[in-house]
Amino acid sequence: GVVLHLDGVRKSYQTGTLHVDALRGIDLGIDEGDYVAIMGPSGSGKSTLMNILGCLDTPTSGTYRLVGVDVGELSENELAEVRNRLIGFVFQQFNLLAHLTALRNVELPLAYAGVPGDERRRRALAALGRVGLSDRVDHRPRELSGGQQQRVAIARALVTDPALILADEPTGNLDSRSTRDVLALLEELHDQGRTIVLITHEEEVARAAQRVVRIHDGELRVTAPAVRR
Ligand code: ADP
Ligand code: ADP
Repeated sequence: GVVLHLDGVRKSYQTGTLHVDALRGIDLGIDEGDYVAIMGPSGSGKSTLMNILGCLDTPTSGTYRLVGVDVGELSENELAEVRNRLIGFVFQQFNLLAHLTALRNVELPLAYAGVPGDERRRRALAALGRVGLSDRVDHRPRELSGGQQQRVAIARALVTDPALILADEPTGNLDSRSTRDVLALLEELHDQGRTIVLITHEEEVARAAQRVVRIHDGELRVTAPAVRR
């Protein structure tokens, strides 16, 4: 089925007398099981698009539907609920809480969703196992390598069983070995049917996806699906 659909999405910023059209009519559909990279140079509109896809911001005009929900119609509270329930975020800076163990970090989205403690623990342990960190569940972020921290973040993104995994420059802070590990993990998740959107400015990283969508000056250029290895 269709996971998300953008139809004529525009986003403008007005700062004083300066008007910027960051997105100029984006049409994009992503189906269940797709793995799409959105790639573009600095200033092309990637962050703006990421914020809209992630329900952190709403379009100036046009529509964004996520699993059938018209996101533009939602209140702040409903947006927060949709973010926690439907989207798993992975960020360049990992965004783990430093004072919490890997297990507690992964449990957090379940805690927000009101899942009881024992089920939370069981599901968080399963997600950490899924990313190969069963032997690191009681470590705090500073006791883990960058690659391991990003795998904890991926476990946190998976644990709610989201409709969409949104990874924003997930390898931007990693060395080449950890970059390969994280891209291999995303590919495995895709093979298992996960829907993934990867935002990057790196050609090498974008190539890991099944389809690359290029953004330039707020407009998309969709390329043909890549032949899979
Ligand atoms: P990217 O992530 O590809 O670097 P952005 O989405 O951050 O691109 O920016 C796209 C355009 O929108 C740029 O011209 C940027 O200066 C402008 N822009 C982004 N955010 C804001 C904002 N909050 N206020 C004003 N202009 C913004
Ligand atoms: P990598 O395996 O990515 O090269 P490191 O060489 O930094 O990572 O770490 C090797 C192992 O040591 C990792 O599995 C990590 O969990 C552990 N480790 C790294 N730093 C610390 C630390 N400060 N305290 C405890 N364990 C650590």
